[in-house]
Amino acid sequence: MIGSPTTADAVAAWPHRYLLDVDHLSRAEIEGCLALAVEMRARREARERMDVLRDEIVGLAFYEPSTRTRVSFELAARALGATTVDLSVAGSSAGKGESLIDTLRTLERTGVTTIVLRHAASGAPYLAARSTGAPIVNAGDGTHAHPTQALLDALTLRDALGELHGRKVAIVGDVAHSRVARSNLHLLPRLGASVWIAGPPAFLAGFQGWPGVRVAADLDEALLDADAVMTLRIQLERAAGGGIPSLAEYAAGWGLTTERLAKARPTAPVLHPGPTNEGVEISAELAASERSLIGRQVMNGVPVRMAVLALVSGAV
Ligand code: ASP
Repeated sequence: MIGSPTTADAVAAWPHRYLLDVDHLSRAEIEGCLALAVEMRARREARERMDVLRDEIVGLAFYEPSTRTRVSFELAARALGATTVDLSVAGSSAGKGESLIDTLRTLERTGVTTIVLRHAASGAPYLAARSTGAPIVNAGDGTHAHPTQALLDALTLRDALGELHGRKVAIVGDVAHSRVARSNLHLLPRLGASVWIAGPPAFLAGFQGWPGVRVAADLDEALLDADAVMTLRIQLERAAGGGIPSLAEYAAGWGLTTERLAKARPTAPVLHPGPTNEGVEISAELAASERSLIGRQVMNGVPVRMAVLALVSGAV
């Protein structure tokens, strides 16, 4: 059993064999997962062996491109002693027309015990969870959800700010097409943060009345006295470009720069889930500055995914 008494208590009641989004997690489960991630981070930094997934085979089924998420799931699985299998979709039978479910069942029959799935179709991990016996972790589905990104964002924000209760977090940009934003809009209010969203109207449609979230009239209102700011890539691969006249005009109106960040609290950090398009949603200078937590977000990806894999596998 991994875990200090507190962490162990918090995770003991973890009932899920899936992580499809964060909206089905209770506050206690979120806290348990974050506490386990913090503990695993410390043990990994101390180069302690954690072999709780020794007998597991984690299948990485990525039907969409990924750098950070895929690599960090692979490192997370290996750090816990698991073997990993990389399903390269271009080279698999998925490229020959095999259905998602048949492909995942094939993975299961070959001995894969946990499946990490990224897919362009919103809801694909839910279908997978209904159709296979293996634990499923959603590594991003369409515009819908990216739960491990939201968990690592919450951990990164807590590292920088401490408790999030009463903190103002501004999320700027293509909220409507961003699975990262959607999962954060579930998670951050649950942790007590006051979340403001800002962007061109087409990028904010449908979020009026979302619990714990305010739609700002303009960028300045969202940034005013913000404790942290998260900016987002425009999801051009999801036809998001139709909501803006041009990238240059978007950058002029909504791109985050050091000057614009002056409206926020003096030390307010900036987050971005990556990949960044510097000069569009964030200036190169700001992305590389001390205010940027982008590198820290990437680093936190591994321990958060370790915690999630351990929890859904029932290994802790
Ligand atoms: N990497 C994140 C995702 O997969 C954010 C992005 O691609 O803009 O959703």
